[in-house]
Amino acid sequence: MFAGFWRAELTFILFILLAGGLVAKLTGNVILPAFLALAVYLLRHLFHINRLLNWLRFGKASRLPVGDGVWEDIYYLIFRIRRRNRRRKKLLLKMLERFRTSTAALPDATVVLGSRDQIEWFNEAAERLLGIRRGDIGQNIGNLLRSPRFTRHLRQGDYLNAVSIVSPVTDRVQLDVRIVPYGDDLRLLVAQDVTQLRFMERVRSDFIANVSHELRTPLTVLKGYVETLNDAGEPMPDKYRQMFSRMEEQTSRMQNLVDGLLSLTRLESVSPGVHAPVNVPAMLDAICHDARLLDERSPELILALDTPDGLVGSDPELHSAFSNLIVNAVKYTPPEGQVTVHWFHDPDGKIRLDVRDSGPGIAAEHLPRLTERFYRVNSEKGRRHTGSGLGLAIVKHVLSRHGSELEISSTPGQGSCFSCAFNDNRISRAGTDSPHPPVGG
Ligand code: ADP
Repeated sequence: MFAGFWRAELTFILFILLAGGLVAKLTGNVILPAFLALAVYLLRHLFHINRLLNWLRFGKASRLPVGDGVWEDIYYLIFRIRRRNRRRKKLLLKMLERFRTSTAALPDATVVLGSRDQIEWFNEAAERLLGIRRGDIGQNIGNLLRSPRFTRHLRQGDYLNAVSIVSPVTDRVQLDVRIVPYGDDLRLLVAQDVTQLRFMERVRSDFIANVSHELRTPLTVLKGYVETLNDAGEPMPDKYRQMFSRMEEQTSRMQNLVDGLLSLTRLESVSPGVHAPVNVPAMLDAICHDARLLDERSPELILALDTPDGLVGSDPELHSAFSNLIVNAVKYTPPEGQVTVHWFHDPDGKIRLDVRDSGPGIAAEHLPRLTERFYRVNSEKGRRHTGSGLGLAIVKHVLSRHGSELEISSTPGQGSCFSCAFNDNRISRAGTDSPHPPVGG
C-alpha cells in the first residue's frame, strides 16, 4: 500500500514512539520522553536538510547521498532532476558548439548585436570583412562601421532591405549588409561580399549600354533612308510599298528597344540626380492627351485629378514611368473598353496614381514576372501589339528611385489596375513648394 520509503519512515516514527513510551513507563514522566522523541525526530530531519544543502552546494551531482525513510526518496528525485539537467546542458553546449563552428565557417560576416547595438559575438568572416577584433566585444557597431548609410539603416529600424556599403577593411570590397531581428531585442548582422557580383553587373550593364549606343546611329540612318524612300512620292509597286512599310515598322521597333535599353542602363548606373518639384497633374494631362492620339480606335480614356499636388522627383523619369503605364492600358484595352487614370491622396496619407483598365487582364502566374526585362505575356491578344517588353522594367526602376513600387492587380477577362503610391515626404504641395497652377478633377 505504502511506498518503501514511507514504510521505513513510519517504522522509524514507531520506533521513537515506542522508545519514548518505554522511558515514560520507566520514569513515570510523559512530557520528557515525548520531548526527547520529538527532538530526535527533528534532529534527524535537520541533519538531512544540512546534508542536502551541502550536496547541492558542494557535492558531486553524480554521487547520491545515503538517506533513509523519505530522505532516500528526496535525494533520489533531486539526483534524477540534476542528472536530467546535466544531460540537457551537455546537449545544449554541443548544439551551441555546432552552431559556432558552422557560423564560423560561413563565408558571410555574422555579428550578434545586443539591444544597445553592442557587439556580442562575431564569426571569422566578420574579422576579415568588417575588421572586428576580440577586443571589440561590447563596442557599439556604429563605432566600427562608420558608413552614414549603415548608421541611418540601423537607426531607422526597418530592416526589410539590405544596405550596400564599402568594407571598413579595404575600399576594394563591396558589402551588402542585412540586419535580422530575433529573440528579445537581439539582432543578427549579416554582411555579404558582393564585389564580384557588382563587377559582373557593371560589365553587363556597360556591355548593354555600349551595344545600344553603337546601334543607335546606324539605326537612325537606316530609318531615315527607309522613311525617305517610303515618302518619296514616286509610284511604287504595292509589293515594294508593303516591304518598305514593314521595314519602317521594324526599324522603329528596334529603335524603341535600343532607347528602352539605354534608359534602363541609365536608370541602373546613374544615381538619382537633384530632384525638383514635378507638376504631376499637368504631366498626366499631357500624357493622356498624347495617348488619345495613339490610335483612332482607342478606348475611352478618363483622367480624374483629385488633387493639384505633385511630386518631388525627376521630371523625365516620372514622365517615362507614367506614360508607360497609361500607354500600356490604352494599348491593351479594346476600343469599346475604358481606361481611368486617377491621381489622388489615399487614406494612408500617401499620394497615389491608379491606372485602371477594362482590358483582357493578366493571369496571376504572370504578375510577379511582368517587370522583368523582355517579359511579355504570350497571349494571342498580347501578340497583336508590338512592344519591347521593357516598359514595366523601366517603371519599376523609376518608382524605386522615387521610394515607391509598382502594385499590379488584375482579373483575366475583367481588366487590370497598375498603381503606385508615394510617401508624404515626396509630395510637392501645390501653391507652396512648387509653382503648380491649381488643376481641377
Ligand atoms: P510591352 O512593351 O510589351 O508593353 P511592358 O513591359 O510594358 O512591355 O509590359 C509587359 C507585358 O505586360 C506586356 O507585354 C503585356 O503582356 C502585359 N501588360 C502590360 N500592361 C498591360 C495591361 N494594361 N493590360 C494587359 N496586359 C498588360
